[in-house]
Amino acid sequence: MSAPEENKVIPIPNATATVEEKVVEKPAVEEVKPEPVVEEIPATETKSTQELSEEDKDLAALDDDYEAPTEDFDEKLKVELNKKLKPVSKKFDLSTATVISKPITVTNTLNNQVDLGKKTFTWSLLRSQRPITIRSFTATELNNLSNLARNDSRSRETFKAIWDHIVGAGKGKDFDTWSKCTSYFDVDNIWFCIYGACFESANYLPFTCPNCNEVTVSTDIPVENMCKYDNPEVEAEMKKIRKLAATPHMGSVFAEYRVQVSDNIVVGFKEPSIYDAIIAPYLFDDEFRRKYNDIIGICSYIANIYVAEMTSQGLVLRPIAVKQFVGNELKTAKARIIQYAKIIRALSSDQYNIIVSHISALTNRPSVSYGLPAVTCDHCKKEIPEDRTAAADLVFMRHRLAILAG
Ligand SMILES: [Zn+2]
Repeated sequence: MSAPEENKVIPIPNATATVEEKVVEKPAVEEVKPEPVVEEIPATETKSTQELSEEDKDLAALDDDYEAPTEDFDEKLKVELNKKLKPVSKKFDLSTATVISKPITVTNTLNNQVDLGKKTFTWSLLRSQRPITIRSFTATELNNLSNLARNDSRSRETFKAIWDHIVGAGKGKDFDTWSKCTSYFDVDNIWFCIYGACFESANYLPFTCPNCNEVTVSTDIPVENMCKYDNPEVEAEMKKIRKLAATPHMGSVFAEYRVQVSDNIVVGFKEPSIYDAIIAPYLFDDEFRRKYNDIIGICSYIANIYVAEMTSQGLVLRPIAVKQFVGNELKTAKARIIQYAKIIRALSSDQYNIIVSHISALTNRPSVSYGLPAVTCDHCKKEIPEDRTAAADLVFMRHRLAILAG
C-alpha cells in the first residue's frame, strides 16, 4: 500500500520533471467507451464554452450582427460617397477625344492599370510572433471571399482563400503547415491585414451620426488608426513584429506549459492554432461533433495529458498515448478526442475548473481590436464615438461601399 503522503498534491516542478517517452497505455480506439457525464456540470462550463468561441462569434456575426441599412441610409451614403469617392484618379474630358481605328487588346489595357496583385500590406500576428504579408484582393476575389465567409467563416475554404493571398516566406510550406503554426487568436489580425491590403490607399469609412442621423464619409483616416491596443506594450510589440523579416521557419510559438489538475493528472496547455480550432473540428462529422462537443473545444488548447508518478528516480510524467492511424488524420484526431474525453469527463468539478481557468487565461491576454475611430460629424460637427467590430466585418463593410458607389 502506498503511504498516504503520496496521495497528496504532487508539486510539479516543470523544469525538473522528466517526461518519459514510454506511454502508459495503448488502448485500441474501439475499446474506449467514454462514459456519459455523470458529474455535475461545473457552473462555469457554459461560460467557458462561450469564451472559447468569442472570435467565432465575431466572425459569425458577419450575418447576424449586420443590420441591413435602410433605403434612406443607402441614399444618404451614396450622396456622401459621390462627394468623396474617386475610383478614377485622372478624369478625362471625353467630349474632346477622338476614336482611333486601331483597337487595343484587353491584356494591354490591364497592363496599364495599377496591378492589384502587386499591392501588398504587412501586418503583425501578435500571438504567432511573426509578420504576415497579404496581396490585395480584386473585387471579384472579395465577392468570392465574402460568399465563403457568409457561408461559413470558419471553413477550411475561407482560410484557404486567405492563405492563397499570403505572399513571401510567411506563407509556409503548404496550407496545413501554415494553419498549424498560426494562432487561432490571430484570426482578427489576419482579417485586418486583408483590409490593409485592399483599402490602405482608399480608406473611405462611413459613419452614421447618432446625434443628427446624417451620414459622414471619412477619406483620410490611416488604417493604423482603426486599431485599438489594450496597452502600450501590445502596441510596441505589434510594431516590432511588423518589422521582422519573414522567415520560412515558422518557429514553435505554441510552447506547452504544464499544470497539475488532479492527484495524478497533469495537463500540458498550448495556444490553439487555426488548424486545431478551425480546420480539424471541421473534419468531424455532425454526430461526432454532437457527442464530443464539450471536449473538442478544450482539446484545441491541450498539447498533452500526462499521468504523474513518483518513482525512485523522482517525479515522472508519462504522456497518455494517443492511438495513431498512419495516413488517416481524421481517425487519429478522433482517437485523441475520445481518449482525452475519457480523462476530462472523469474529473471532478473543481479539477475541471482548473482546466477552464487556464483556457480563460490563454484567451484573455492583452491584445488589439479593430473598428471605426471617433470622428467629427460633417453635418452637426459633434463627435461620432468609436465603434469596435470584427476586422472581417470591416473588410466586407468597406467592400460594400464600393459596390454602392459604383
Ligand atoms: Zn451629426
